[in-house]
Amino acid sequence: MGCKQRIKFNHRVSQSYMFSLKILQNLKVSRAANNHNVLNPNNKCRLSLCVLLCFIFIYNLSVLSCERPEYSRINVALGTVCTVTLFDQGKNSIYNDIFNRIREIENLMSVRIPTSDISRINAFAGIEPVQVHEETFKVIKRAVYYAELCSGAFNPAIGPLVSLWGFNNENPRIPSQKEIDEVLPLINWRNIELDPETNSVFLTQYNMALDLGAIAKGYAVDEATRIAKKAGITRAIIDLGGDIMVLGEKKDKTLWNVGLQNPDEEQGFTIGYLQIPESSVVTSGVYERFFIEEGKRYHHIFQPSDGYPVNNGLLSVTIIANNSMDADALSTAAFVLGYEKGRALIESMPSVKAVFIFQDRTIRTTPGVNLVITDKSFKEIYLSRVTMTE
Ligand code: FAD
Ligand code: MG
Repeated sequence: MGCKQRIKFNHRVSQSYMFSLKILQNLKVSRAANNHNVLNPNNKCRLSLCVLLCFIFIYNLSVLSCERPEYSRINVALGTVCTVTLFDQGKNSIYNDIFNRIREIENLMSVRIPTSDISRINAFAGIEPVQVHEETFKVIKRAVYYAELCSGAFNPAIGPLVSLWGFNNENPRIPSQKEIDEVLPLINWRNIELDPETNSVFLTQYNMALDLGAIAKGYAVDEATRIAKKAGITRAIIDLGGDIMVLGEKKDKTLWNVGLQNPDEEQGFTIGYLQIPESSVVTSGVYERFFIEEGKRYHHIFQPSDGYPVNNGLLSVTIIANNSMDADALSTAAFVLGYEKGRALIESMPSVKAVFIFQDRTIRTTPGVNLVITDKSFKEIYLSRVTMTE
């Protein structure tokens, strides 16, 4: 057939054309002869082969055209377990896009990846400014905003202290007072110079180091949520190492129940759950990363003013907010600030709520929190709205 059409449009006839015409005629003759003999084994197997090929083709077409819903996907990224649940709207391609985005953020903002923007900034500390990716600049700028807002309790220049205590190199240890005193001058966040014109970041002191461990995971949750929404997802749970976003409404229109980790128990044991509409829930606490020495727990959230893990009576602070980047930064900030200053900071932000869990197993919440306590060894203390006293 192809040959013939080409002839219609192309006038130059050749010997080869005559030859092929001959073949065709022969084929026609033989086919005519064969057609009459359906029982001819060649025909039968040719027929079944055709049928089989058609079947395989149609089957593949149907499989390719409708991706099987994938309810949930778990992966390790950002050094933690990431679980994305898109329910019956889950598709392989969307999960791939979400996890690729998380990996991109990891490659830009991880202190453990030598080629990341953060590692490059740290490598040129005290030497020269480093131009970084727009979004790394955006997250650093937001981190500096929170450092300013809470006078350095939240501190993105905390890197040298995190390394000294070994929380970002798998070698946790208690440093000497002398070592801590040598590092404290290096964690001054005011020595972070930002140039929005060029998206450049300069750490003015030698051996300074940024660490976005308290804010970048939240940013990754927001980005995963943005991609899910862009793909038309209307209901999802995005959980990156405990930084959570619940998207849309549950099928039965009831509120989402998000469990609150019991800080004194293994992962997964809860003290109760929050009942919330679409929002982000992020917790900072002593149980996320810690080591025990001589019976004492040393965790990964530091008091920048003295260089030691925070010890202010709190076990964890949970923030409920519209976006995860802010919730992540605020959970660490409120934890470091302590209950009074932390509560005042959160109450100064209308759309943000908080749950404070104390070492004495009491719980205090800001107005509007819907908390159901299931572990009766914990007790909620209510603040009187009139006297603002307990
Ligand atoms: P948060 O309470 O939100 O923050 C605590 C973290 O912030 C600390 O771990 C420290 O990094 C930093 N910090 C401590 N004190 C302060 C302070 N006063 N102000 C500001 N920041 C402070 N972990 C791994 O084991 N392997 C990895 O490969 C790895 N890669 C990562 C890549 C990225 C981009 C990020 C963001 C984190 C990565 N982590 C990795 C760390 C891991 O995900 C941590 O568990 C996480 O960062 C701590 O989360 P959190 O919510 O418990 O802590
Ligand atoms: Mg945080």
